[in-house]
Formats: sequence, C-alpha cells, structure tokens
Amino acid sequence: MRDFSTLLVTGGAGFIGSNFIRYVFDLDDFKGRIVNLDALTYAGNLFSLEDVAEKYFQNYRFEKIDIADRFSLESCLKKHEPDVVVHFAAQSHVDRSIYSPDAFVKSNVLGTFNLLEILKTIWKNKKGVLFHHVSTDEVYGSLDKGFFFEASPYAPTNPYSASKAASDHLVKSYIHTYNFPATLSKSSNNYGPYQIPEKLIPLMIKNMLEKKELPIYGTGDNIRDWLHVYDHCSAIWEIITKAKIGKTYNIAGENEWTNIDLVTHLCKTMANKQKKDPQVYLDLIRFVKDRPGHDKRYAINCDKIKEELGWRKCYSFEAGIKETVDWYLENKDWLFKVG
Ligand code: NAD
Repeated sequence: MRDFSTLLVTGGAGFIGSNFIRYVFDLDDFKGRIVNLDALTYAGNLFSLEDVAEKYFQNYRFEKIDIADRFSLESCLKKHEPDVVVHFAAQSHVDRSIYSPDAFVKSNVLGTFNLLEILKTIWKNKKGVLFHHVSTDEVYGSLDKGFFFEASPYAPTNPYSASKAASDHLVKSYIHTYNFPATLSKSSNNYGPYQIPEKLIPLMIKNMLEKKELPIYGTGDNIRDWLHVYDHCSAIWEIITKAKIGKTYNIAGENEWTNIDLVTHLCKTMANKQKKDPQVYLDLIRFVKDRPGHDKRYAINCDKIKEELGWRKCYSFEAGIKETVDWYLENKDWLFKVG
C-alpha cells in the first residue's frame, strides 16, 4: 500500500473535492496533512468544509490559487511539497462550456499542463509520489448500446468533454514520455451532498422547495449512469493507495436512468419525505428546448477496478437518493447560500 504524508487536492472546494477531503480525513488509516488548493470560482465554496477545517485544523490548509496561474501554483507546490496530488479542479458544467468555452481551456487544459510541468520538475528523482487525474466518462462520447472500456477510443462531443479529453491526453503523454508518476480515472455522473444547484439533482430539489418549474431538456430520454460521490471517493482512495503508475480506471455507478425517470423518482422521494402528494411536484415538470449536441447516453464498464483493486460501491441508488434528499432538506441553508 502506498503511504504518503501530504496530500494536495486541487478543486477541494467543489462538489467531489470537498467530499473527498472529508472522506480521507474520516479514514482511520490517514494521519497526514491535506492541502486544499482551489481558485474559489462560482462552483467552489468553503462552507462545504467548515466542519472539516475546524475538526482537523492541525492537518488542514487552504490555498486560494488558480491553477492557470503558473507562478503562484509553483510557489504553492514548492511550499507544501505534496507527495500525492489528486486533481479535481476543473470547469465542470457542460452548458457553460457551450456558451463560454474559454474558461474550460484555461482551467482544464492549461491548468493541468501547469501542474504536470511543475510537478515533473519538483518530483524529479523523488520516490513514492503520485499525481491522480480525475476525469469523466464523457470523454468517450455517446453510445446507444453496450459500454465503454478503459481502452475505448476518445470521442468527446462538447467543449467540456473535449477539454477533459485534452487534459487526459496530456497526463498520458507525460507518463509515456517522462515516466511521470500518474494514474487516471473516469467516472459517471456523481450525486450526493454538497453539489451546487446548477447540476440536475440539487437544481430539481431546490426548484421543488421554491415551487418553481422543473426544466428537462428535450423529451427527457437522455440516459446517464449515476454514482454516489462517496463511492467515487472510495474508488479514488483505492487507486491512490494501491494502483500501479500509469493505470487508468473507469468508475461506474452501474445505475442508468433516463432524465425523466430520474426526476420523476426524485419528485416521489421528495413528496414521500414531506408527506405530500407527488403530483404537486410532478406537475412542475416542463420539457424545454434541448441542449445543442446533447449526448444521448453515457455508459462505462468498471470490471477493471473491481478485479484489480477490489473496489465495490456501497450505495444502492434507492438508499443513496433517499439520503441525498434528506441531506438537502436538512441543509437548506447551504443550498440557498451557494445556489
Ligand atoms: P465542481 O465544479 O463542483 O468543482 C470544481 C472545483 O474546481 C471548484 O471548487 C472550483 O472553484 C475549482 N476550480 C475550477 N477552476 C479552477 C482553477 N483554474 N484553479 C483552481 N481551482 C479551480 O466540479 P465537480 O463536480 O466536483 O468535479 C470535480 C472533477 O471531477 C472535475 O475534474 C470533473 O471533470 C470531474 N468529474 C465530475 C463528475 C460529476 O458528476 N460531477 C463526473 C465525472 C468527473
């Protein structure tokens, strides 16, 4: 098992990054330090980690840094000397990438390049170090039937997935060319606590609470695979502690839903929790003009991480979505503060 003392998390103020920091600190076998490096864009906030910062104040540091700013990034990495870097920081919303792609190239491509270049130099001849790059199933593009595997070709179709694909290629090229110590993972759509209400599930919950319309693109028949963020974090932990350098793993929820079925299920779960008639929420559903170039279905096979690292998800969707709805209902302050 790989052992390390300083873990640096980029994008740790975002949805998955903040869940990952909480996940690692809660592990009995982690006694090290965590540095959270984040630019605090509209998607990042420190409210998500207030309890963590207080409980683990001796071992937790926050650095407000833009990974596209090479000079500041370099001095921060030199100051903290991380032995493992988990790279979440990215612009992550497909709709925004369609209307303002520049920020995606800057953060996702240039930002990843800066991290690789700096770490390549400061980790020269250093043993036991690792860069883990967090990517998405969207880099494979859309498919009607079957699943994408780790060796499937890249076919991104929107500026977000193209920028993530570009960053994956940079990481792979550094492994191949410079023997750079990196691993990669590509996961399905995540859901769970601390996701800002620009993404589907928290947006629908927030709109239900405000009795606003529930907008669904096109006819709602686009299919996504949903993974609880806790299961994503546990998979990344398995990778950074056990995986061989150079490996790529898919992380799937094995849990496909059309958007309309997902929102219908969410309406019923919300109504059930609040002892209301589900029709109150179902009546709020509105089909709206589709997203340009909207991919029909994403689906990945994750046998490799199960077989090689023994990873298993622990959430069923039924349990995960109930717990998620409970969390947002109990944390309305957070939801309305960040949304
Ligand atoms: P998010 O948008 O919630 O958080 C991203 C974080 O990165 C924010 O805190 C933001 O402030 C920070 N950030 C953005 N640009 C930055 C920059 N230039 N410098 C420093 N910090 C910057 O995203 P998320 O949903 O937590 O996703 C995290 C990672 O996981 C991303 O790389 C994303 O592509 C990948 N991913 C997400 C999902 C999902 O369903 N959310 C699925 C698969 C992969």
